Amino acid sequence: MLGLWQASPKGYTVAAGYDWLRVVAPKVPWRHLCWNVMNVPRTSFIFWACQHRKLLTLDRLQKRGIVQATTCFICGIAPENHEHLFSLCEYSRRCMELMQQKIHIRFVDANMVTWFSKARTKSRLQRVVAGACYVGLLAGIWQVRNHARLYHQVNAPRVLVNQVWRNIKERLMQRNRRMLSTIDQQWIDSIV
Ligand SMILES: [Zn+2]
Repeated sequence: MLGLWQASPKGYTVAAGYDWLRVVAPKVPWRHLCWNVMNVPRTSFIFWACQHRKLLTLDRLQKRGIVQATTCFICGIAPENHEHLFSLCEYSRRCMELMQQKIHIRFVDANMVTWFSKARTKSRLQRVVAGACYVGLLAGIWQVRNHARLYHQVNAPRVLVNQVWRNIKERLMQRNRRMLSTIDQQWIDSIV
């Protein structure tokens, strides 16, 4: 039986074979934010899982009969689910606010995907770094949540924001600093 890849008008090519083998899924609007070159790689994976609602938040564990209580480990007020943990929780909101103040860029965290594709920052670098900060914060909030679950301790939002920025700055500095524009160099130097 002929494989679908053989139906290519050009006959067999490696590209056609690869396309035939892999699962072709629709393109998601958050793909650029997820696979942004400035992201720390492990944060991309957590962001990906978050976008697919695959993280084992308490609402999901309750549905599986693993836990009964679903109160957020961080704030102790509302039920924990993806929306609460990453958007609505007071802790997350405070982290997002502090990060925007720190890097001097306002991003609309309620709709970061749209912001990331359309924002007009002073340079492309500033936009991708802001995206990496957002993704890094989401991953950091998940780590804070896991730490709170185990040790009943929550780092102050400023501690998390500084930690996320340090990781991204380290990645940024791995690029040749001389290749950065004057505007970008001044911007990075202004972030303390
Ligand atoms: Zn909360």
